[in-house]
Amino acid sequence: MSTIPVYDVIVLGSGAAGLTTALLLADTCKVAVLSKCDLSEGSTLYAQGGIAAVLDATDSTEYHINDTLVAGAGLCDVNSVRFVVENAAQAIKRLIGYGVEFTRDDQATGGPVYHLTREGGHSRRRIIHAADATGREVETTLEERVRENPNITVYEYHLAVDVLREKTAEGRQGRCFGAYALDRRSGKVNLFRAKAVVLATGGASKVYLYSSNPDSCTGDGIAMAWRAGCRVANLEFMQFHPTCLYHPTAKSFLISEAVRGEGGRLLLPNGERFMPRFDERAELAPRDVVARAIDHEMKRLGIDCVLLDISHQPAEFILSHFPTIHAKCLELGIDITKQPMPVVPAAHYTCGGVMTDHLGRTDVPGLYAVGEVAFTGLHGANRMASNSLLECLVYGASAASHILEQLTTLPEPPQAPQWDESWVTNSDEEVVVSHNWEELRRFMWDYVGIVRTTKRLERAQHRIELLLSEIDDYYGSFHVSNDLLELRNLALVAKLIVRSALQRRESRGLHYTLDFPHTDPIAAPQNTILVPKKFRLAPQP
Ligand SMILES: Cc1cc2nc3c(=O)[nH]c(=O)nc-3n(C[C@H](O)[C@H](O)[C@H](O)COP(=O)(O)OP(=O)(O)OC[C@H]3O[C@@H](n4cnc5c(N)ncnc54)[C@H](O)[C@@H]3O)c2cc1C
Repeated sequence: MSTIPVYDVIVLGSGAAGLTTALLLADTCKVAVLSKCDLSEGSTLYAQGGIAAVLDATDSTEYHINDTLVAGAGLCDVNSVRFVVENAAQAIKRLIGYGVEFTRDDQATGGPVYHLTREGGHSRRRIIHAADATGREVETTLEERVRENPNITVYEYHLAVDVLREKTAEGRQGRCFGAYALDRRSGKVNLFRAKAVVLATGGASKVYLYSSNPDSCTGDGIAMAWRAGCRVANLEFMQFHPTCLYHPTAKSFLISEAVRGEGGRLLLPNGERFMPRFDERAELAPRDVVARAIDHEMKRLGIDCVLLDISHQPAEFILSHFPTIHAKCLELGIDITKQPMPVVPAAHYTCGGVMTDHLGRTDVPGLYAVGEVAFTGLHGANRMASNSLLECLVYGASAASHILEQLTTLPEPPQAPQWDESWVTNSDEEVVVSHNWEELRRFMWDYVGIVRTTKRLERAQHRIELLLSEIDDYYGSFHVSNDLLELRNLALVAKLIVRSALQRRESRGLHYTLDFPHTDPIAAPQNTILVPKKFRLAPQP
């Protein structure tokens, strides 16, 4: 029998989405929060810019909605956009109530008390922030509230393997009632049961060789939901940040776009400035244009990185504007007041994900998805900066309130067998996992990255099939490990990304293919929806 108690709700993931959901549920529910790393680790912790919300009298919800729709290149769901934008101010108020300290505007005389910045795509100042480390302030404050809440039990270093569905009387797949999770410290797989399960596992950017995301972003929730029978959508829209530091020991360190904003120039190894050849706005062109130009030059010349140079600015200016970047580079032996920094574009954000409605419900009854793992229709074909944390906060709250409304009528979870490892052995070939991991991320970068072609996508598709069959063999023969489970998920998500990219026969937003370089002019463009074999739309409570 399981030694883990039965909970009302299990939340898988502890970023802004998971912790928001857990805190709102915990007023009346017993909640378990599972996190595969430290509780605070995840993309949320590293978010720099801030959170978009209409907080200034000169701004309006209509402006915020319109900016989001423009960025989304015709694919945003206007209802979702309106829902998020209209609930933004309340979400910010809740964070402040939890104790989040946003940067104040000391100059304010009767205007907003909090300082608001403006970012690409936003027509107004509407980004509330905590200096340049908003995510850290939000995440650590939510963590404090969660740890002091007696109704929330935290399971760190617990990696969810798969969610569970009960069998209905007719022998069909029914409600989701729990998950198996690997305790990374003991190596044991535990059974967790609950009346509802919330996926809040973040994005899948680690499917690429270069990513701004922390190691946890391996698309686990997307893979688990797909295996459980949920539809996924728009996975071809992966957002790339143009400049991530390229250094063997600097994992995932983002070089803010502000460096280009303040005069930083992109150079080839021979010192040639190349952006003016691609766009008249040169380094100030939009993110996707700059990322594509860098990718083009890297592929053309077969080079590993390009250079970003701000050293022509006075040293005091660099130190006062970019203290964190300066300190980080100096640690690695690069003095940016004197020399350029090596940079590459990096996978940054997963716009697609598990299909949900405005209550966070997936196709599987009892299974919810919130945050970057979910596809809500908010981002369309391109995410507007600072809308993603907001999405976590708003959908986390709506999923929690729906679960609370339903809770008393939901059935107790059924019994389930413990994880059975009787037929597997210890692997003596861990190298297979590390090799496949490396290979997958490299060919995804080369063939399914910023600029795509049908031929490259088909090449990737072929390799993924081979990898998946090797991984399946391995999964069926050996004890599961953290790396194996993440690789299994990454390979599945890679397959779904490639399938989605092959289906879109146009270039739109973040999806750019040389075979169909133009945007289809049709009035009502469609989302790319993939349907798993197990899919059967069940009536939702
Ligand atoms: C460098 C950087 C800067 C950014 N800047 C901004 C910004 O300024 N504004 C903005 O709006 N957005 C920004 N973003 C995007 C934003 O941070 C993310 O979209 C958002 O934080 C996602 O939150 P989340 O809760 O969905 O996932 P995360 O914060 O990624 O949390 C996911 C959680 O799931 C857990 N997990 C994953 N798989 C499993 C599993 N199998 N079992 C158990 N637990 C699991 C992880 O351990 C983690 O706790 C930035 C992202 C990055 C990487």
